[in-house]
Amino acid sequence: MLNDSTICAIATSPGKGAVAVIRLSGKDAVKICNKVFVSVTKGKKLTKQAANTLHYGTLKDGKTIIDDVIISIFRSPNSYTGEDVIEISCHGSTYIQQQIMQVLIKNGARPAGPGEFTLRAFLNNKLDLSQSEAVADLIASTSKAAHRVAMQQMRGGFSDEISILRNQLLELVSLIELELDFAEEDVEFADRKKLDDLIKKIQQHIQELIKSYNLGNVIKRGIPVAITGRPNVGKSTLLNVLLEEERAIVSEIPGTTRDIIEDTIVIEGVEFRFIDTAGLRKGSKDKIEAVGIKKTWEKIGQAAVVIQVVEATDTVQEIDEQVSEIKKRLKGQEHIVVMNKIDLAKGQKIKGAGEWIPVSAKDKKNIDKLLEALLKVSDLAKLDSTDTIVTNARHYEALVRSAEAIERVVSGMENSIATDLLAQDIREALHYLGEITGEITTDEILGNIFKKFCIGK
Ligand code: GDP
Repeated sequence: MLNDSTICAIATSPGKGAVAVIRLSGKDAVKICNKVFVSVTKGKKLTKQAANTLHYGTLKDGKTIIDDVIISIFRSPNSYTGEDVIEISCHGSTYIQQQIMQVLIKNGARPAGPGEFTLRAFLNNKLDLSQSEAVADLIASTSKAAHRVAMQQMRGGFSDEISILRNQLLELVSLIELELDFAEEDVEFADRKKLDDLIKKIQQHIQELIKSYNLGNVIKRGIPVAITGRPNVGKSTLLNVLLEEERAIVSEIPGTTRDIIEDTIVIEGVEFRFIDTAGLRKGSKDKIEAVGIKKTWEKIGQAAVVIQVVEATDTVQEIDEQVSEIKKRLKGQEHIVVMNKIDLAKGQKIKGAGEWIPVSAKDKKNIDKLLEALLKVSDLAKLDSTDTIVTNARHYEALVRSAEAIERVVSGMENSIATDLLAQDIREALHYLGEITGEITTDEILGNIFKKFCIGK
C-alpha cells in the first residue's frame, strides 16, 4: 500500500480563515517545494536546510507570486508520516489555497486521499492502527470526555493494554505448546493451576473492556436524552430553548459557524444528544397517533435520560397520573420531571413541587436548573475515570471475538480438552487482538478505516 509518490493536501478546514496550512509528504516533498519557493534570504535552497526549521519567502507559479508564506521542514523519520514533510502556512484565502495546490501538483505532487497522511504514519510504524483511529476521533471530539478518551488512545494507552493481553496470551500458548512438544512422553509441564489463573485473568480483563463500550458509545455519541410528555405541554419549545443556549455559547467564539444544527448540546464538557421524539411532538387522534406513540416508547427505550414535561396548569393529581404513566414503563433510565408554563400558574402549585423542576420555556426561566439536573443524573464520575474505555465499534467486535475464543479455552481446560485445540483457540484470540492494533491487518480493513478520515489528515 505504501508508495513513493509525494502527496499534498490542505490540512486546515475548508473555507476562509486567517491562515491555512498545506501539507506535502513523500520523498520529493522538499524538492517540489523548493521549485516554487523563493526565500527572502537570497539564494537559500530548501533542499539544503536542516530538519525542524522555518523559512520565510514567497511561493510562485512561474513569475506570478501566489502568496507570502512560511515553510516548515520535517525530515524522515521524525515527522508525522515518517517521511519528509513540508508544511506551507499561507494566507487563508480559498483562492490562494487552490493556487498553491495546483502549483504543487504541476511540480510533481499528487492530491492525497482521505486519511492518507495518517495511513502513511501507520505504514511507517509511527502509530499503530488504534492510535491512527484515535486521531480521527480526536479531530471529531466535541466534549471533554470524548477528547480525553481519544487523547488517551492516541497516546497509546489502549494499545499498551492490548499489548499486555497479547503478551499474556503468548506466554500461555508457549507453555501449552511446550507440553505439546513432549506429548508422547505423557508429562504435564505447565502448572495447570497457574494456566487456569492466567487465562481467567485475561478473560476478566477482556470482559471489562467489552463492558466499557456501553459508556464509550455514550461518550462518543453523546448521552441520549428523550423529551416526552403530552401534546402541547411545550416539548418543542423547551428543546429549542436548550439548543439555543448551546448555540449562544458557540457563537461567542469568534469564527465558529454551525451550518448543521444537530440536536446536541454540550454542558460543562458533557455532550447530550436529544433523540427525536417527533411522535410525541404532535398529537393527533388517529392511526398516526398510535404509530407515533409506539415509536415514542421505542425512543424512550433508547434514552439514558428521560425528560418528562408536564404543565403547571394541570392539577397535582393530573400531573401525578402522567408521571406514574411514564415511571412504570421506564427500564432504569434517569427520569427528570419538568413542570413547564409556570408563567401561567402564578405560583400556587409550584410550592409543592419538590420532585419537579418548575420552568417556563417561553420566558426561558429556570432553564439553568434543568441543565444542572441533566448533569447530575449523568454518571459523570465514570466519564472522568482513567480506565480504558472502548469507543470504537471495530475494536469492540474484535474484543468480542477474542473473548469467544478465550471462553472456548477456559471451558476446554475445564474439560481437559486436547492441548493442540487449546493452542489453536489461544492463537485465534491473539489474532483478534492483533487486528485492533494492526499487527494483523488487510488492505480491506485499512481501506475501510482511512476512507472515513478527512482529506489532509
Ligand atoms: P409540544 O407539543 O409539547 O411540543 O408543545 P409546543 O412546544 O409546540 O408548545 C405548545 C404551545 O405551548 C405553544 O403555543 C407554545 O408557545 C406554548 N408554550 C410552550 N412553553 C410555554 C411556556 O413556558 N409558557 C407558556 N405560556 N406557553 C408555552
